[in-house]
Amino acid sequence: MAKTKTKFIFVTGGVVSSLGKGIAAASIGALLENRGLRVSIQKLDPYINVDPGTMSPIQHGEVFVTADGAETDLDLGHYERFLSIQTSKTNNFTTGKIYNSVIQKERRGEYLGSTVQVIPHITDEIKSCIMRAANDLDILIVEIGGTVGDIESLPFVEAIRQFGADVGTENVLYIHLTLIPYINASQELKSKPTQHSVQKLREYGIQPNILLCRTEHELPQDIKNKISLFCNVHTSSVFMAKDVSSIYEVPLALHHEGIDEKIIELLNMWTRKPDLKKWKNLVETIYSLEKSVTIALVGKYVNLVDSYKSLNEALRHAGYKNQCKVQMKYIDSEELEKDSVNMNDYFDGCAGILVPGGFGNRGIEGKIKAIQYARENNIPFFGICLGMQLAVIEFARHVANLPDANSNEFDSNTTTPVISLMSEQKAITNKGATMRLGHYPCVIEKDTFAYTAYGERKIDERHRHRYEFNSEYKDLLCKNGLVISGASPDNLLVEMVEIKNHPWFLGCQFHPEFQSTAMKAHPIFVDFIEASIKHAKHMDWIEKKTSIASQSQKTQTKTRKTKIV
Ligand code: GLN
Repeated sequence: MAKTKTKFIFVTGGVVSSLGKGIAAASIGALLENRGLRVSIQKLDPYINVDPGTMSPIQHGEVFVTADGAETDLDLGHYERFLSIQTSKTNNFTTGKIYNSVIQKERRGEYLGSTVQVIPHITDEIKSCIMRAANDLDILIVEIGGTVGDIESLPFVEAIRQFGADVGTENVLYIHLTLIPYINASQELKSKPTQHSVQKLREYGIQPNILLCRTEHELPQDIKNKISLFCNVHTSSVFMAKDVSSIYEVPLALHHEGIDEKIIELLNMWTRKPDLKKWKNLVETIYSLEKSVTIALVGKYVNLVDSYKSLNEALRHAGYKNQCKVQMKYIDSEELEKDSVNMNDYFDGCAGILVPGGFGNRGIEGKIKAIQYARENNIPFFGICLGMQLAVIEFARHVANLPDANSNEFDSNTTTPVISLMSEQKAITNKGATMRLGHYPCVIEKDTFAYTAYGERKIDERHRHRYEFNSEYKDLLCKNGLVISGASPDNLLVEMVEIKNHPWFLGCQFHPEFQSTAMKAHPIFVDFIEASIKHAKHMDWIEKKTSIASQSQKTQTKTRKTKIV
């Protein structure tokens, strides 16, 4: 294997899924980066899909798009929000991608007559993918998706075991994240599931160096001692990861426990102490928010927060910037389609309306109704990707007098395709990784909401779409008052639309949520929330919320045990 100076931290999970491995890995990354180290994170996902691009957000959560156009796991969003890195294609590999590459090599005859097997060929491929992400780094953190013991994650677990032997055990660290459940009836924390999970890992030949124990309650020393004894991990390497109210407190909480100090000690590295002033300020801001506004999110994946992960975070970030808590009210667009529906019942108390990205027919007319409601009632409106396309359709139908306006995505035979398939998409039949993906430049017009937000004319944002604003309708729609506030530099693609005589109404073809961070909220989100706060004040909603927000804030401050140090 190629020589490298990079050290590796492998993060595995045990007991149950959804333990927050991504946040834990990102928080550890943030701490190490703040110690002055060059750090990156990679996610290895055991499912067979080549990437999550073809998976429903209901099953898999949001598809996070990297600047270089990879459709990846939503954990990469956490990595970018917690570290100062920009992830790329090499930061996420799946079983499907690994097998795809091995099978292509086999077809090219590169294995010279060998029988191609899981060990060594698949494991070698996994190891080379890890190595590819380790360029110019002090530390690469590798998060293994799934739970130890799953059949499908076995080749990854075996590969990271071999990896330790290949690069020298002094250069790798295995961190295992587990759950310590609390049994209410007996009022006890239970360490047994952790013992079993570590036993499984040791069966596969991996002795974890650090255990990170998720718990709702303080982990007493005697439980740590017990875990240490049964799992063969020193007590000083058994760490508590207690639930906190905001994910942005996790780096501080883990630092408070001493995990970053332990990591550099075990990896035999020397670094400065981390500078966590910015994180502390951020968390202080988050916990001191008193005002609150409610934003209606009109979509079809309404039951699962993970489906709109970056979007939820971007809205929260904009709230921090505006000193205001942002509450999301998820509205199922299909429900709005019923004739009998009273829109006021759904939107009362909502200071802004957001229609996010999406695909397919379901719930489309309900979203269009929500946009019309926002436009006609002067409620701040923000449409992202599909949300922008629907804003164009709504405008065409109800303002520009084109009642049959539609997108070819929902009606391939529409007589008025104001949104149509992009020309480069016409010959494409495969679904995976074939959209217009990744970052593209956009030029902004002055005197627009967009220009007020960005304060500059050239921006760069990430895309993921097949359909576009049909330029044949540009003149007609603009004559009726639609404003094209952003376009590709050659002026061929419409990237942003707005309407005049409205407090704030903007749609963009790209996904700005992917570039927002808690410390640097995205300018469009910031202005959308600012406009929503104004609307809420005008409607006298802020006051109503303030008392609720400050009440819950008081209880939160009282019950929050983890000190911000
Ligand atoms: N379905 C639309 C398209 O493919 C919008 C995509 C999206 O919202 N990401 O163009």
